[in-house]
Amino acid sequence: MKDYIEIDGRQGEGGGQILRTSLSLAVALQRPLHMTHIRAGRKRGGLLRQHLTCVRAAAEISGGEIEGAEMGSGEIRFQPGSVRAGDYSFSIGSAGSTLLVLQTVLPALMLADGESTVRIEGGTHNPMAPAFGFMEASLAPQLRRMGVGLQLELQRPGFYPAGGGCLVARISPGPARALVLEERGQEGSHAVHIGCAHVDPGVADREWGAIQRALHWTRERRRVLDMDSSVGPGNFLDVHLVFEHVTQVFTTFGSPGVSGQRLAKRLASQVKRSLAGTCPVEEHLADQLMLPMALLAGGRYRASRLSGHSATNAQLINRFVPGTAQADEGGTHGFQVQINPIFGGQTPSDRD
Ligand code: ATP
Repeated sequence: MKDYIEIDGRQGEGGGQILRTSLSLAVALQRPLHMTHIRAGRKRGGLLRQHLTCVRAAAEISGGEIEGAEMGSGEIRFQPGSVRAGDYSFSIGSAGSTLLVLQTVLPALMLADGESTVRIEGGTHNPMAPAFGFMEASLAPQLRRMGVGLQLELQRPGFYPAGGGCLVARISPGPARALVLEERGQEGSHAVHIGCAHVDPGVADREWGAIQRALHWTRERRRVLDMDSSVGPGNFLDVHLVFEHVTQVFTTFGSPGVSGQRLAKRLASQVKRSLAGTCPVEEHLADQLMLPMALLAGGRYRASRLSGHSATNAQLINRFVPGTAQADEGGTHGFQVQINPIFGGQTPSDRD
């Protein structure tokens, strides 16, 4: 039996990302994991519902065994089995992010020996997490370029605090391809997606007005999404910057007492900064590409910014398999990230 890899959850930003990346790597590499001080850097440390669902989901897809999988737990021992393709259903039981649960199981299921369907209930549009639109328009197309079939369906949107959302992901493993994402290519049709569920009908107009004034975009770029099936209220704005090789998605969320116009203006400044640069990968895509690339055929990309989450992911990947991820500052050209393939670019479907 392999030794446990010891991970201290206090490293980096001390949050949920360390747990999710460690779980994904433990399952994909079939390496037993002992993790302590889980989310010790957060005010309410330990496993919250979303994190607990991630732990249980990692165990379920691999027929693994876990100790310490309880609410508030700061320590787990996880002995993964081998990954099994199949139909899975997970319910977070709160408005916790479904996309973060998907982020945990996706790396292993894309290496499985068949197709999987994963249904997850909880929040689908959460601040501080990838929103559904980001996953669908930004990350999923890059995974498809790497050889993984990923189709996403938003069955019902869910917002904090009511939750009640549901997404379904269909994952089809395929022959792995290296990803090279150094240029974004020709500009396409950028768009603003506005999601309003059970809020004042004037909100979408006011937010669009503020974006339009800041970016000088015409009305055909405005898309108002139907969010009526949401259980509770919610509001978000997604700007999709569409280029030949990548779509960048920038998201902001409305909340009571915060002016929608102020949010829209702040979002517009982020968008202007990106348009003024040349980097294809923004900070969130930067941290979320690393793990799939390492498990598939590797590659390289150029990112405008590397966040604490990127540093954490690179450190953890290198902890499990030294020498896999490397990032270099390229001055005005952004950061150059190089990922070496852990399995030499071979996935189960390559080996058939
Ligand atoms: P904690 O409560 O411990 O902070 P958490 O489990 O909610 O943890 P984080 O550790 O903060 O999560 O990780 C959040 C993840 O969500 C990261 O992968 C980050 O890139 C991603 N993320 C955050 N904001 C966005 C966004 N606007 N678009 C896309 N991805 C995002």
